[in-house]
Amino acid sequence: MALINEHFLKLKGTYFFDDIAKKINAFKISHPKIKLIDLATGDVSQPLCPAVIEAMHKAVDEMGRKDTFKGYGPGQGYKFLREAIVKHDYQLHGVNIDISEVFVNDGAKSDTGNIQELIRWDNSIGVTDPVYPVYIESNAMIGRAGKHDNGMWTNVVYIPCTADNEYLPQLPSQPVDVIYLCNPNNPMGTVMTREVLKKWVNFAIKNDVLIFYDAAYAAYIQDDDVPHSIYEIKGARHVAIEFRSYSKTAGFTGLRCGYTIVPKALTAVTFDSGERISLNALWHRRQSAKFNGVSYVTQRAAEATYSEEGLRQVKETVRYYMDTANIMRDMFIKSGWNVVGGQNAPYLWLKVPDSDDSSHFFMQLLYNLGVACMPGSGFGPSGEGYFRLTSLAQREDCIEGVRRILSNYANG
Ligand code: PLP
Repeated sequence: MALINEHFLKLKGTYFFDDIAKKINAFKISHPKIKLIDLATGDVSQPLCPAVIEAMHKAVDEMGRKDTFKGYGPGQGYKFLREAIVKHDYQLHGVNIDISEVFVNDGAKSDTGNIQELIRWDNSIGVTDPVYPVYIESNAMIGRAGKHDNGMWTNVVYIPCTADNEYLPQLPSQPVDVIYLCNPNNPMGTVMTREVLKKWVNFAIKNDVLIFYDAAYAAYIQDDDVPHSIYEIKGARHVAIEFRSYSKTAGFTGLRCGYTIVPKALTAVTFDSGERISLNALWHRRQSAKFNGVSYVTQRAAEATYSEEGLRQVKETVRYYMDTANIMRDMFIKSGWNVVGGQNAPYLWLKVPDSDDSSHFFMQLLYNLGVACMPGSGFGPSGEGYFRLTSLAQREDCIEGVRRILSNYANG
């Protein structure tokens, strides 16, 4: 008799984003004549850039010829892509990463979810709250998060980010073994500057804490004092694993490619002997057993984002989304709203008007105005009372969505 992993039963029946998508879909079906403005989904709206398309066509042709066909590739990623990553995403920012520390994957969701396999089931984890749900749910699935009680997981240390602390996570007062940081932040669109991140790295070094650092939105950083990588901070290679993605950087949400950096200097201890073990070696071992790499065509596409044309084209698309975010911010601010985010990330984080709860507000927006947002409560207890809007949709839709919201809630 097969016994199930009962930790799965502690999860809500539906993943938060799927639940929202279902509700949006139900609205669409029942209101076919209303043009829905979807500012909930964090998906991109602009197509892949020409440099990427050209590289893919070329790679597809190679796959069709006997002399250039590729079967299984190196599980860690082709050297051409890992070399481009090391040069463009690290060396040019003054950071030395070796290609053996780069693990190419099918997007950041897989690895941000899978990485917890490296640590013992009874390690304590800390998350900034509100939080990208994958971090908690992947831990919950193996029992590390404890029980879900009153909207919170009993074994998770929540680090609230609210108006009271200007949406910046404070160092935890309770002990944690592992901490997840997301910079720029989803859902809030906020950022930690170099100074702030330095405090976290120093905290991790002092307390032997492992940081899982999600930089999926690094391409959206506009301010010079915000680091693109945690490894720009001295000592971080001893305490942090970093996740990057081409999804929002270059519109790869449907293509699927990202990468994880596991530095060779990074270690964690064994329970029995306290011996320090390389996490790079462990992750390599894990990936060899469970992952067969990303398709050659996709890796050539990712490589093309670093060509001269590719860099320029990708930057233009990011500019488009960030200009949209600026327009949305201005519209809200002119109407007297307080807006968080939208300056170094494609997300705006806003307080639900009239102290309404965020799920109720989500339904009100959807059914009264035909606008979909993300209710903050789905991102954790500190998200209650807030909602998230994306600027990754078509600009005219973003403007129309904000206009509809402001027509009903003039002053926030
Ligand atoms: N990390 C964060 C913070 C995200 O918001 C997302 C996607 O929305 C991901 C990781 C996963 O991105 P992907 O799997 O498309 O690379």
